[in-house]
Amino acid sequence: MNPQQITVLGATGSIGISTLDVIARHPDRYQVFALSGHSRLDELQALCLQHQPVFAVVADSPSAKRLQASLAAAGSKTDVIFGEDALCQVAAHPEVDTVMAAIVGAAGLRPTLAAVEAGKKVLLANKEALVMSGALFMQAVAKSGAVLLPIDSEHNAIFQCLPGDYSRGLEHVGVRRILLTASGGPFRQTPLDQLLTVTPEQACAHPNWSMGQKISVDSASMMNKGLELIEACWLFDAKPAQIEVVIHPQSVIHSLVDYVDGSVLAQLGNPDMRTPISHALAWPERIDSGVAALDLFALARLDFEAPDEQRFPCLRLAREAAEQGGTAPTMLNAANEVAVSAFLQRQISFVQIAGIIDTVLSSEASTAVTCLEAVFAADSRARTLAQQCVNQRGEAR
Ligand code: NAD
Ligand code: MG
Repeated sequence: MNPQQITVLGATGSIGISTLDVIARHPDRYQVFALSGHSRLDELQALCLQHQPVFAVVADSPSAKRLQASLAAAGSKTDVIFGEDALCQVAAHPEVDTVMAAIVGAAGLRPTLAAVEAGKKVLLANKEALVMSGALFMQAVAKSGAVLLPIDSEHNAIFQCLPGDYSRGLEHVGVRRILLTASGGPFRQTPLDQLLTVTPEQACAHPNWSMGQKISVDSASMMNKGLELIEACWLFDAKPAQIEVVIHPQSVIHSLVDYVDGSVLAQLGNPDMRTPISHALAWPERIDSGVAALDLFALARLDFEAPDEQRFPCLRLAREAAEQGGTAPTMLNAANEVAVSAFLQRQISFVQIAGIIDTVLSSEASTAVTCLEAVFAADSRARTLAQQCVNQRGEAR
């Protein structure tokens, strides 16, 4: 059997690196066709030298020239191309079997959709792409016959706990609810008044997972769980009311499915993204991921609690956006991206993130989304307003 050809979008990120770690364990099964990176050119160069892809994709022409020269000097034949069209090209290339969509944020939407439209096996880490364009994204999957497999550990767990024919509808396969677990992040027990002054470093110090900065802040605000709630609605054709968020600080149960007969199926494992990545890469087979076996005796206990919406207003905002549908999740996602970036640059405080998203969501009624242009227009309106809020609130601090 020829090895599968893989494109890794966002190869220099946390998910990209974990993906390449798994791929490197199975050279007989997988070959890297293309890698993309946005800013860390040295890291991308090292990955190219190790995996020898046909293409490397970078942000712009100067970066492409620089990487092309240094790769050529090292004897590599990798062709360096740049820009969004190039990302779409390596995502949809006829020689590619599987695309890991691991760019962070809205920047990943077009390339991920290109992979979907080309009918690839798409491993979806880039939850923002699905959140911002849910209906269109799922229509594109249905139309092309792409195989969409969730990489988010919770959704991968739910996928593993659902029967193979769940697309008939959750009611038809006896599902009562989906229980979406959340660690609660680094501020689960921080006194509320101290949240006013927490720093980006504190927000990014996740107790269980090592991840990129944006998703780390999202985990601290629990917007990550809000985005995941919307993601789960699309992936499993669930209503927001069918999904309950459960705080489980150990991050060992990655989510659960509750059936009408009282059975609850869960997927457990050490908090290491190589497990869902390996699962999706090899699905429906199983391969070694490099993750250590779960030691239940060392764990000894598993805890659960209900989320506190006063502490985590972003979770409520996301649930409301999920219920509204249409442009609301698009605007939620865009406002969140702007606010998180401003927090990381110390322009606003942590608690102002939710306030900005609330202002943006309240600015207009949600409308149905019928085309990608409408998605990008809503995204852009939300970004402009969120940025105005950042500027005002930054001055007010
Ligand atoms: P990261 O910040 O570590 O990596 C992001 C990648 O995207 C990098 O390769 C970067 O070069 C690229 N990128 C950034 N901006 C870009 C742009 N404008 N254009 C093109 N490429 C760009 O992020 P991560 O933690 O690996 O997360 C990636 C995605 O996976 C996110 O959507 C995140 O929500 C999701 N996810 C991550 C984890 C995790 O454990 N890290 C878990 C579940 C889901
Ligand atoms: Mg997750």
